[in-house]
Amino acid sequence: MADGSQDCLFCKILAGEIPADIVYESDTAIAFRDIKPQAPTHLVIIPRRHIATINDIGDTDQAIVGSLFSATSAIARKEGIADDGYRVVMNCNAAAGQTVFHIHLHMLGGRALGWPPG
Ligand code: 5GP
Ligand code: ZN
Repeated sequence: MADGSQDCLFCKILAGEIPADIVYESDTAIAFRDIKPQAPTHLVIIPRRHIATINDIGDTDQAIVGSLFSATSAIARKEGIADDGYRVVMNCNAAAGQTVFHIHLHMLGGRALGWPPG
């Protein structure tokens, strides 16, 4: 396939070729701990399907993208941060600081988070 998934770090984590601390798995999504956490709880939630950026999300991806958010609420309860609160962020392309081109939600919690972000 020429969809970029061959060289994709997160596709390699999905394939088990790169180890990760996986905390959640469903038919459509997985979540693992960020290797460089920016908060006491910092998880990365990704679809199993390789989609490079938010700009590449199509109409047929709605269920997959929705499943990232249902994963988020399940994980927040499991991690014990649901009531205190947390932030979910998805960076798109260079100006937002996207470095891995397989869409992912960052889930940040366990401390007070400033607003606006940098
Ligand atoms: P982005 O900058 O694209 O929004 O987020 C990519 C995230 O992936 C970063 O927070 C970065 O720390 C994380 N990351 C990069 N490489 C690895 C890795 O090999 N394993 C894990 N668990 N996280 C990674
Ligand atoms: Zn990928």
